[in-house]
Amino acid sequence: MDQDALEDIIKAGAVTREARQLGVGMIAEGVSLLSVAEETEAYIRKRGAKPAFPVNISINQVAAHYTPASNDKSTFRRGDVVKLDVGAHVNGYMGDTAITVEVGTRNWASLIDAPSRALSMAIEMMGEGVPVSAIGGTIERGIRSNGFVPIRNLAGHEIKRNNLHSGLSISNYDDGNTTKVHKDMLLAIEPFATDGAGEVDNAKAGNIYILQRDREIKDAGANRLFGIIKEKFGSLAFCERWCTAIDPKAPAHLRTLVRYGAIYAYPILTEAKGGMVSQAEHTILINGSRVQVTT
Ligand code: MN
Ligand code: MN
Repeated sequence: MDQDALEDIIKAGAVTREARQLGVGMIAEGVSLLSVAEETEAYIRKRGAKPAFPVNISINQVAAHYTPASNDKSTFRRGDVVKLDVGAHVNGYMGDTAITVEVGTRNWASLIDAPSRALSMAIEMMGEGVPVSAIGGTIERGIRSNGFVPIRNLAGHEIKRNNLHSGLSISNYDDGNTTKVHKDMLLAIEPFATDGAGEVDNAKAGNIYILQRDREIKDAGANRLFGIIKEKFGSLAFCERWCTAIDPKAPAHLRTLVRYGAIYAYPILTEAKGGMVSQAEHTILINGSRVQVTT
């Protein structure tokens, strides 16, 4: 691998890890979700990297894709099971990492341990030539050994430059995929465990977006914001908060852009049977028989 690319991957991983640690350290009863998201993203920028996507803070039955809006007043409550998912990039080379914590209680220790154990087991057996199906099988065994089930329609993924979900998809169960992991691949492994159905549904649209199609936008305000979005975020996910910081009318413009099919609003993903959800995630660089956890 190109030496500059390798250095960027290592730095992005380190910044992502530090940002995750800072964010998770802030989570406590009464603290606002907004302050955790914003301070975690500010840390990434301060370290000379950029967020690879808005900080996701997904609570209890919500598995992923929730980020607070600019006017979000909600705070963490005692007993919440919180997934903090953080990404940073340096020159388009990304790190992607997540952790689950419980606010002030210890009712879900085994659920929270399950994806973390599965992730360790997967990292342990990972290397050049290992088939994707074997990684998924290991993850599922790790989660089931704690008495929970994996979420089958959420998966790990290969990461390419400026493209967070690209190439290989790594299921959290044995999906029969005989494709083998090869040298220099950058992979995000992210087991999700639940006591529910083991599946997420799309609930309502959230505050996270991505460019979908270049369109002619007739509304002048929305068109101006669309130009800024294309230039500033390119192929990376962004959120209402970041747009409202640029243009106070952004919420209305974003709705217009969704209507045009110019941008896509990610739905908030919730457990299909209302189960509690935990997640762990690391980014891993395949370097021969050796694997390097960058986050
Ligand atoms: Mn993630
Ligand atoms: Mn990921």
